[in-house]
Amino acid sequence: MGVTNFEKLGTVAVITMQSPPVNGLGQTLRAALLKALDKALVSRGVKAIVLIGSGSGFSAGADIREFNSPKMLAPPSLHTLIAAFEASPKPVIAAVHGACMGGGLELALGCHYRMAKPDAQIALPEVKLGLLPGAGGTQRLPRVLGLEAAVNMIASGNSIPAEKLAGTPLFDEIATGDLRESAIALAERVIKEKRPPVRVRDLTVRHPNAAGFLMFARNTVASVAGPYPAPGKCVEAVKAAVELPFDEGIATERRLFIELMMTPESKALRHVFFGERATARIPDVPESTPTRPIRSAAVIGAGTMGGGITMNFINAGIPVTLLEMKQEALDRGLATIRGNYGGAVKKGRMTEADVEARMRLITPVLDYAAIAQADIVVEAVFEDMAVKQKVFEELDAVMKGGAILATNTSTLDVNRIAAFTKRPGDVVGTHFFSPANVMRLLEVVRGAQTAPDVLATVMKLGKAMKKIAVVAGVCDGFIGNRMLEQMIRQTQFLLDEGALPKQVDAAMEKFGFAMGPFRVGDLAGNDISWAVRKRRYVEKPMVVYSRIADRLCEQGRFGQKTGAGWYDYKPGDRTARPSAAVEQMIIDYSKEIGVKRRAISDEEIVDRIVFALVNEGAKILEEGIALRASDIDIVYLNGYGFPAFRGGPMLYADTVGLDVVVRRMMQFARNRHGDPSMWKPARSLARLAAAGKTFS
Ligand code: NAD
Repeated sequence: MGVTNFEKLGTVAVITMQSPPVNGLGQTLRAALLKALDKALVSRGVKAIVLIGSGSGFSAGADIREFNSPKMLAPPSLHTLIAAFEASPKPVIAAVHGACMGGGLELALGCHYRMAKPDAQIALPEVKLGLLPGAGGTQRLPRVLGLEAAVNMIASGNSIPAEKLAGTPLFDEIATGDLRESAIALAERVIKEKRPPVRVRDLTVRHPNAAGFLMFARNTVASVAGPYPAPGKCVEAVKAAVELPFDEGIATERRLFIELMMTPESKALRHVFFGERATARIPDVPESTPTRPIRSAAVIGAGTMGGGITMNFINAGIPVTLLEMKQEALDRGLATIRGNYGGAVKKGRMTEADVEARMRLITPVLDYAAIAQADIVVEAVFEDMAVKQKVFEELDAVMKGGAILATNTSTLDVNRIAAFTKRPGDVVGTHFFSPANVMRLLEVVRGAQTAPDVLATVMKLGKAMKKIAVVAGVCDGFIGNRMLEQMIRQTQFLLDEGALPKQVDAAMEKFGFAMGPFRVGDLAGNDISWAVRKRRYVEKPMVVYSRIADRLCEQGRFGQKTGAGWYDYKPGDRTARPSAAVEQMIIDYSKEIGVKRRAISDEEIVDRIVFALVNEGAKILEEGIALRASDIDIVYLNGYGFPAFRGGPMLYADTVGLDVVVRRMMQFARNRHGDPSMWKPARSLARLAAAGKTFS
């Protein structure tokens, strides 16, 4: 089957795009469409042309499989194709259903008449990748939709059902019956009535006060665009559609598009777009790997994490048997789940009936025999190896053959946990992030013996739960927490050397984190990392830590939950107020350990914290704990609040230049207090920097 189909039905030629899954306008389809158009133009007897998509939609735009490959630029370009359709002396009718987005919509705008199914999804989503529509969309859409609606669509990138655009020149007709039949009928009417090709380029943008509206749009967009330049450039491009002749407008659009392509923000957004799709690819577990059916689940422990994990299952329609040690703990867990749904009801996102239906999917139990038939069991009990051992021995004894045994541990050795069973191939880590029902990230921890089909099943399950699942190998902290440890050590060395929590937080927030590390500590509970540190002091006595955070915890300052942490809090108020007592404690501690405090620049704060992440990330890559640098970025963007417009720590390092990163690390290594040994560049980092290469 070719990527297009050509039919001649009397005086009408029907060109059908048939390039699954979404009729992406890759080079092959572009070339085939041009050929089909030429055939229609030379076909004697053909007086009008219908362009339609088969399958799920008209066309979802560029073929993402071609991105960053030479094929993307290979002729014919989308511009050439659209110009050819627009120039056709025989009228062309675009018949639109399903997704009609990006280049797909731009192609439809090059046609002379358009008809759509009411539920067709119309969008120019390029802004979401930090770009603007680059094939005439910013020039043609305002000509048919009017200035305001076009600016809204282009600067937001949001999709709109075609029926909401009925009555505008974008759609001549909305098809209620069969789209193809209706489009052919329209074509026949156009022929019969001798209607000419209507070229959008010849229309003018109408607005009673275009200049005033554009100024308003520019200001509005600037106030919501944050660090992203694309929405503002979208307005600028549309302005050209109002003020310049069509061809000059197209040239302006082209120039702005190329400018945006080069911005770090667009590079970051595109990196994330492709990075999120790459996480599912596991080199030795091909897509064809069979998966185990997951029709039922069990969760052990109805605490903070067990409750959220249970919600993930039931939200995906998978019934859960929830096991606890005591009835009270079970009741408490169920009440919390119900309470969480209550929030969604208040916001109008769910009805009471929805909540009841979800709650009915949970069977609370106190007895292991009741979970034996579950297809997967996720353990979320206390973070203590002895407790995990007891639970996994129990699971090994009761669970049916083929059941997947997953642990939600955040720091313990998944291989040791697997060894508590006689079926280590069935054991895997599913590291959810808190709150588990909200956070998108899921680290899937692959044990030394985890079976490929278990891994494939859990990755697929993550998708069903609408999570971004990233594979991690077994090590202390997996990808995210292992890197976090290095970041936290730096934040505390910075306090010892002269910074205060408010300065560190402000610098990191200016860099783009929603919350600085000390505010995060107060939110998450400083006691949790204290417990982990105490274990590390024993397990890894060689690692140098500042003891300042221990001092804080010794005073019972666990964070928001105790009304005091790195900051002070008033009852019922989460505002972090700098604490004179804590600041004095920090200053006293520096004196006690003999460190002369100095002024530390915000630049040093950011570089030390971010490059600590980068160096550990490079080690994680070398050791094969992460499959690719972009997986590390996806973890940091979705689990740790790394600013999206910077694309994650590894892409940020690439952007800064790895040679610059290494030089900066050498400078930090001269500081005797900040653990000089941690600034020895990871081998992969040193190698890439020396070769002038990047992680990506
Ligand atoms: P939690 O203390 O809130 O809940 C643990 C629950 O397990 C309690 O309700 C307890 O009664 C129950 N429990 C303990 N032993 C049990 C047993 N033998 N059988 C049945 N139930 C038992 O703890 P949490 O924060 O939900 O953490 C659970 C796990 O998730 C830990 O391994 C933790 O490291 C991990 N984790 C926690 C977070 C987080 O932010 N809290 C994030 C990621 C992973």
